[in-house]
Amino acid sequence: MTRYADLVERHGTPAYVYDLNRVEAARDDLFAALPEEFELFSAVKANPHPEVIRALRQGGNRACRAEISSTGELDAALSAGFDPGECLYTGPGKTDGELDEAIAKGVRMFSVESLTDLQHIGAVALRLGVVAQALLRINSASASATTSIRMTGAPSQFGIDSETLVEQIPLLRAVEGTEIVGAHFFPLSNARDEDALIGEFQHTIAQAARTFHDIGLDEPRFLDIGGGFSVPYAVPGERPVYGRLREALSQTLDEHFPRWREGFPKVACESGRYLVGDSGTLLAGVVNIKESRGRKFVILDAGINTFGGMSGLGRLLPVAVSPDTAGASPESVESWEKSSLVGPLCTPGDVLGRSVALPPLEAGDVIEIPNAGAYGPTSSLLMFLGRPAPVEIVVRGDEVVSVSRIEHHRTYA
Ligand SMILES: *Cc1c(COP(=O)(O)O)cnc(C)c1O
Repeated sequence: MTRYADLVERHGTPAYVYDLNRVEAARDDLFAALPEEFELFSAVKANPHPEVIRALRQGGNRACRAEISSTGELDAALSAGFDPGECLYTGPGKTDGELDEAIAKGVRMFSVESLTDLQHIGAVALRLGVVAQALLRINSASASATTSIRMTGAPSQFGIDSETLVEQIPLLRAVEGTEIVGAHFFPLSNARDEDALIGEFQHTIAQAARTFHDIGLDEPRFLDIGGGFSVPYAVPGERPVYGRLREALSQTLDEHFPRWREGFPKVACESGRYLVGDSGTLLAGVVNIKESRGRKFVILDAGINTFGGMSGLGRLLPVAVSPDTAGASPESVESWEKSSLVGPLCTPGDVLGRSVALPPLEAGDVIEIPNAGAYGPTSSLLMFLGRPAPVEIVVRGDEVVSVSRIEHHRTYA
């Protein structure tokens, strides 16, 4: 039985439990792994729960800024105490309505994905009588490391192709209502290991220096070198601690940007999953168990409507969920039977794992899926098949901070 038995009793399943102590530990560990001059953006999309992002905002002089990509995320960030001036607004499809709202509320820094994107930002800024600061997001022609999600080097809706940037510069510079203050790179997510992460950052920093030189931006004010910090996803394991990163980043920056320590440019990283991944546990109830043609199916009340919805569609992250083994002896874990772990939805895509070793289970049991704090409810198919959203329980150690659930309802015009 789970150590969250009393919470399950009171609030039912499926339920997420997020521990703010662990969010803060991840935040502090990541800041400690970076040079002290660095800024760190928390990618709100990984977990927009208000108390979770508030914990990322609180950290004295080493508090995260917010990387947002919609007015919904902007509202989440503002209500968690972020200043609009601390937000970086990103995304390939910023609408005029969103830009209007964001700029009116005080957001000034935007990651720019194309000339036309910058023109849209400029038009709104001009109308509101302000100047928007643009980081040119660069889609580099080359990259250095292998990764599970690569977002650069190929045709993409993200970023300006590095090979055409120089010729576009006169037009980019001419966009009224904007000033180009630096660049944004986000070449990889979830790096394989620290070497891969360092390799990618070194590549990015060198590329940034070349880019600023090529486009004649002599005094870049801001450089966002992206992320790639990794954490186990819905399987047991420890969040890595990056012991060599700080030194490697400092050295590479010294080489390419001699004044970076004085803030020329200010350098930033971004993370979603690392900051929130290990804070979360998904408690899923076993609804039924059946056998079909020699295979055992464990049917949970949590499927792709609750967790890993994008992978349920066969896209992005392949999920192979596995339960927490913490309470079990190694011998008993060895005898665990392999089963398909599936959700309750009427689609064969509702699979959390095809061959997962599971302890003996029966209907009514609860399994604990660890490291489930990132890309949970809001990146799942919450409304598909009309089940209620999972309960989200925020704790600080043993103390319950809040219990809530997202409700969706239709509003008629
Ligand atoms: C999604 C996203 C992130 C977060 O990625 P993780 O792999 O969760 O760290 C960071 N930056 C940008 C621009 C993103 O789109």
